[in-house]
Amino acid sequence: MSETGARADLGVLGMGTMGANLALNFADNGGFTVALGNRTVEKSYGVRDSNPDLAPRLVPTDSIEHMIQTLKSPRVVVIMVNAGQPVDDQIALVLPHLDKGDILIDAGNADFNDTVRREAAVRPTGVHFVGMGVSGGEEGARHGPSIMVGGDRAVWERLKPLLEPISAKYEGVPCVDWLGEGGAGHFVKTLHNGIEYADMQMIAEVYGILRDGVGLKAGAIGDIFADWNTRGLSSYLVEITGVTLRETDPDTGQPMVDVIVDEAGQKGTGRWSVIEAQKLGIGATTLEAAVSARGVSSRRRERAEAARVFGDIALPGAQFHADRDGLGELESALECAKLIAYAQGYATLAEASREFGWNLPLGTIARIWRAGCIIRSAFLDDIAQAYEAGEVVNLLQAPSFRDRIEAGQANLRRVVAKAALAGLPVPALSAALSYFDDYRRARGTTNLTQAQRDLFGAHTFHRLDREGTFHHRWPQV
Ligand code: NAP
Repeated sequence: MSETGARADLGVLGMGTMGANLALNFADNGGFTVALGNRTVEKSYGVRDSNPDLAPRLVPTDSIEHMIQTLKSPRVVVIMVNAGQPVDDQIALVLPHLDKGDILIDAGNADFNDTVRREAAVRPTGVHFVGMGVSGGEEGARHGPSIMVGGDRAVWERLKPLLEPISAKYEGVPCVDWLGEGGAGHFVKTLHNGIEYADMQMIAEVYGILRDGVGLKAGAIGDIFADWNTRGLSSYLVEITGVTLRETDPDTGQPMVDVIVDEAGQKGTGRWSVIEAQKLGIGATTLEAAVSARGVSSRRRERAEAARVFGDIALPGAQFHADRDGLGELESALECAKLIAYAQGYATLAEASREFGWNLPLGTIARIWRAGCIIRSAFLDDIAQAYEAGEVVNLLQAPSFRDRIEAGQANLRRVVAKAALAGLPVPALSAALSYFDDYRRARGTTNLTQAQRDLFGAHTFHRLDREGTFHHRWPQV
């Protein structure tokens, strides 16, 4: 059954959803011969047997040793297993069989701090360890994901011919690039997912307004999102919102979304993005709101009890309407809030670039997110152009975005205010608005915070009228 002979161009270790599809992509779009490896060995044979067209280029292997024997040298092994200990376990198993100059890639989602640690541990062996973010889910992995590569630049030059053919293309341009040393690839992937969380949460909040504030049925809301997808909000996430809302459950005949439990799962990337933003001192408040909202959603029983005690949402007097003006207001508010979320994500990337000395190519990041990944949209082309037009302190201040914010902020303000009065939760939309109002206020309120800190902890403060650091002898309390 098993084949030997070093004929495979690369090996993929992990035949789950992503690994199997990535292996098929390498064989199909890259024309590469791929060694398939998996903890549960039968899955590798299953992948080959269920893809007879590609079978000549798929080599199932029975063990790590067997995979190593089938790989041409210098070897390339792509690990695609669940984040955390499984990655460390796979590295420990493969590394002893690799030689100096071989490349070991972790293509799953990873906390970039783990990637930095793993790279440092592998480096003395002379094997190149690369942390690489892959976005696009099952379909992307199979037909063209967006790929964010970290590690040594020289290794990227070797990987380019393997990765460009399998990546998504936006107007013919491959959505893959080297973004920086060490954990840069996984850091950027993490922020991609953080932005994805915020984008999805904002969409869900607007869905909530249309469902509970206006009283529309799922299909009608799906039609609205499908319409919005033809204009400024055009994106994969808005497109799939329309598709999911219009879908009917074959068992009950109900809208599919109406039979799905309102508890959202998460696997860690959203949380990591928020933790890193906090460490860097960036207020990624829309990402935080999105991660928190998933946490609240998971406490379903508790929420049901609270609804019983306090009354459910949608108090009378909600001023939302599904007429032309009402929908236009919501569309504009969502666009404006989304822009603020992306600005927060990019501010985190910019700060990380400074902090870790990565020199992240922010325009390129927007370019490789234009196709293949979950947050893909034409809007990312505008972000890329903003970075290419000159230095960007913050996307909110880039000339092309300033106008859009000015146009949308009044609508965002009205939507958040009406939602608050109606008792409809909009944590991400309101986080976007508050952040914007905080960001644009020349004279903030932390002068008071500094006064308090100086009173109780002699933390000192700066004065508006004089240079230097000051401590005041406050009255004893
Ligand atoms: P999956 O379908 O659940 O497959 C998990 C794979 O990991 C299987 O091959 C499994 O082997 C293997 N595995 C798990 N624990 C292991 C262990 N302790 N030792 C050895 N192998 C182990 O997961 P997936 O969706 O493909 O995700 C893989 C990675 O891609 C994750 O880091 C995920 O976050 C990332 N990712 C996923 C998506 C997505 O849309 N699904 C998108 C981007 C990135 P067995 O078959 O033996 O169980």
